[in-house]
Amino acid sequence: MMEDLEKPISLIRDLLSSDIKLERAKGFGAYLSNALKPYISESLYKSLNIIDELSKEKKKALLEQILQELEAFKRPNYLSISTQKQKLRRLRDLNIKIEDMDFLNKNQKKILHASGLNTLIDVLWYFPYTYENRLVSKSISSLALDTYGTVLVKIENLIYDEKEKYPFSIITTDGKTKLALKFKAKDRSVMGWYQKGQSIVVYGMLKEFRGQKYMIHPKIFSESSKEIDIVKPVYPLERFEDPQSFLASSSQKRRKLLESSIKAILNYYKDYWQNLQDILPEEFLKDNDLIPLSTAFKIIHAEDYFKDFKSFESMLSKAKKRFLYEEIFVFELAMLKRRSLVKSLNAPSINADPDSIIKEVQSHISFPLTNAQKRAITEIINDMKSTKPMSRLLQGDVGSGKTMVSIASALAVLKEGFQVALMVPTEILANQHYKNFHDFFSKLGYRVGLLTSSTSKTDIHKLISIGEINVVIGTHALVQEKVKFKNLGLAIVDEQHRFGVAQRQILLEKNNNLMPHMLYMSATPIPRTIAMGIFGDLDISVLDEMPAMRKPVKTSVLYSDNQKDMAFLIEHIKKELSNGNKVYIVYPLIEESEKLDLKAAQTEYEKWKNIFKDYKVLLLHGRMNDKEKSSVMEEFKESGHILVSTTVIEVGIDVKEASTIVIEDAHRFGLSQLHQLRGRVGRGDKEGYCFLLVNSSFIKSQKITEQNATLQRLRIMVKTRNGFEISLEDLKLRGPGDVLGLSQSGYFGFNFADLKNEEHLRLMSTIREAIPKYKKGISEDLMWFVNKKYMDEKVIVA
Ligand code: ADP
Ligand code: MG
Repeated sequence: MMEDLEKPISLIRDLLSSDIKLERAKGFGAYLSNALKPYISESLYKSLNIIDELSKEKKKALLEQILQELEAFKRPNYLSISTQKQKLRRLRDLNIKIEDMDFLNKNQKKILHASGLNTLIDVLWYFPYTYENRLVSKSISSLALDTYGTVLVKIENLIYDEKEKYPFSIITTDGKTKLALKFKAKDRSVMGWYQKGQSIVVYGMLKEFRGQKYMIHPKIFSESSKEIDIVKPVYPLERFEDPQSFLASSSQKRRKLLESSIKAILNYYKDYWQNLQDILPEEFLKDNDLIPLSTAFKIIHAEDYFKDFKSFESMLSKAKKRFLYEEIFVFELAMLKRRSLVKSLNAPSINADPDSIIKEVQSHISFPLTNAQKRAITEIINDMKSTKPMSRLLQGDVGSGKTMVSIASALAVLKEGFQVALMVPTEILANQHYKNFHDFFSKLGYRVGLLTSSTSKTDIHKLISIGEINVVIGTHALVQEKVKFKNLGLAIVDEQHRFGVAQRQILLEKNNNLMPHMLYMSATPIPRTIAMGIFGDLDISVLDEMPAMRKPVKTSVLYSDNQKDMAFLIEHIKKELSNGNKVYIVYPLIEESEKLDLKAAQTEYEKWKNIFKDYKVLLLHGRMNDKEKSSVMEEFKESGHILVSTTVIEVGIDVKEASTIVIEDAHRFGLSQLHQLRGRVGRGDKEGYCFLLVNSSFIKSQKITEQNATLQRLRIMVKTRNGFEISLEDLKLRGPGDVLGLSQSGYFGFNFADLKNEEHLRLMSTIREAIPKYKKGISEDLMWFVNKKYMDEKVIVA
């Protein structure tokens, strides 16, 4: 790096040394901008390109500014990566346990551990969330209003006036401008702490009122304090595993302790991390103008001298850019590695002809398969021809007919003599799928088994292990229990976004080390770019077409505290029931701890039962056990009329006679959830209705911004039927981490990459595609880091 800079720097010095040269020289702007692009801020870079057109003074100022920015890279510890390779530390050398750091005391270790930090590496990647500008300005006028800054001043006067909101004022000056420091002090004794004529350094937010400049509760330092003339990093104080043990100390004290501990570690191991070999391939750094890792650490932890806050900020943006790219590179590399791990395993090759499977399936069902279903079936069957295991995501809006696609795929596998497993999140869904698969496959001579926590085990286990049962439908019990397969060829995972490497490994072990093909089905139609960003290691098939004849569900908003609205609703339900249709009434999930004014499903159930005395009203709620839930569901399907329920009916449930869904307190559900719920009706060729109930006085009690957001979401639901559009809106509002029920930080380990940011998503796909190009530069250290970060149970979908 230093040698890269030597030439341009000496050119700049040369130019600055003589006015004549500076005036006459032409065309050096292009050379400099090219050579310096990675090292200087964008605005300087842009100005360089037009330097020929600038006046002599401006040229001079610009070059001087550039020299300043380059200072940071010139110091010895910003050594070039390429020339110093032998001497550099490797990342693994930095895997030093905090436990073993003898220079830390017990409390320091404790607070570091409580913050989730266990090694030097953890500390290095633990980033401040903000910085205090403690660089001392020479004058008050050079501070910007309404921002924090530090300035050296002299005390002119001390005032105590208890009638004031801030009784204690220190009037100071920098020689030209006056600055009042205001405090809420209890009594006059503070007057004795300071003297007129004393020089102090103050850090605070500069305010102005009627031409008077002031700061409220600034921090005050002596001129010789070590706490000034620095950029002070502020680290997040969170993730306390055991807040009890720290209760004794205030958060301010804890912050001090944490910061001093981090500082101590960074200081003690300076030689290690400042001479750290970069983990990213050199070519990747060059191609993307990224600064080296050790430099980036130095900036992000503010472990350097910075001339002014502006130049710090411009360097910080470079450090952040580097870590953003690093995060994505590491994540995508992990995805690729997982993929190649999976692909290195053997799967049974399924030699089926998609067209004849489609024909056969078609001959057993009463409706025509949609083109999208046929396309997905073809993609899946073709994929399973390979001896490499398939990892495929089948995406389709609610009601698009994913089950049929999975049945066709299963048929292809069964015909080749292999077993099929289908895993679902709830027992109710397991029952439903069991019925579908059983209806379809038993006619063809295949045996279907159900394995949930409430079915009897031993017989089924045995039948599965000897291959007597061909298709197993089950909940997580399928991976948890001791069940062994004879020859599992395809595992289907429905409506579950969390199926990690660990579970996949278990499947492998349960299947004599033969890896089954995997098909994941999801009704959250997330856009391809986002899906690829998150599930980078999956192929995707999309059902972008609804079965013909299906009518859109009519959606409207009703006010639950408006009598007319409610009378209308009851009339509607009566009409539907008399036509032989069924009705869902859904309440937000009740949790015992929740103090919010939620209607208990139980009392609501009584209410509906009273209104519809002649009909069978059933109750389903989250605190029933699986068996109870299943039997309520069965009863509803068989002979029930109205099902009052909490959100457990949300995913996958398919009752064809259900024509109406009433969603109480609709504002409490996310958009995707509302759409899922609405998808429970209008599944046959009948007209479907969805009523979103809200309490108008509740809405009015919300803050205006919340009110708008609530109404906006309800409007989207009324206006839009397309799950894809709804999902897009939801993603905009909540981000994929929440929409998919994955906690974003935990699952992706991102500090800077934001899955809501389209630019970042594009970057993810660009980097994913570019990784093979950098294969040679991928070091053992990098792979070690990837493993450390992503190869444990934290993974998403394999
Ligand atoms: P999802 O994609 O939400 O899982 P399902 O697979 O449960 O949807 O299908 C919804 C309903 O549509 C089911 O009752 C199913 O039998 C029916 N169905 C599936 N494919 C078609 C089709 N091509 N034409 C008409 N109805 C279909
Ligand atoms: Mg489904």
